[in-house]
Amino acid sequence: MTKELSGGCLCGDLRWKAHAPPHAMGLCFCADCRKASGSGFIPFMNFDASALSVTGRWTVHRLAHADGREAVRNSCIVCGGLVFGGKWGESASHTIYAGSLDDPSAFHPTIAIFTRDAPDWVVIPPGLKAFAAMPG
Ligand SMILES: [Zn+2]
Repeated sequence: MTKELSGGCLCGDLRWKAHAPPHAMGLCFCADCRKASGSGFIPFMNFDASALSVTGRWTVHRLAHADGREAVRNSCIVCGGLVFGGKWGESASHTIYAGSLDDPSAFHPTIAIFTRDAPDWVVIPPGLKAFAAMPG
């Protein structure tokens, strides 16, 4: 049986639990993730919405893209920690930001996406399958 993954924000108000393993684990180097995190990239895990439970309070940040899609990121209302992506209660799947894991050793990325946006000072780990943009 797979160990249940769990995590949360810095202050512990916003918590999540996964009852099934993620579909994907990777690193996103897109400019939006860089700006949203204030870092070089965002480590992410994708889960079915039905596999997740979330407790606590969060602020929803919405960003409209030129192609009509909307990026939704959710941060703890208390400490500001970025925890998950997608519209809770609407999205069929969610991104969990892997830095929020209680046990960071549970993260095993296999893909790197939007590598075209990675700045020179970011090292893309060897061994990941790299995609210049979003994988088809
Ligand atoms: Zn918090």
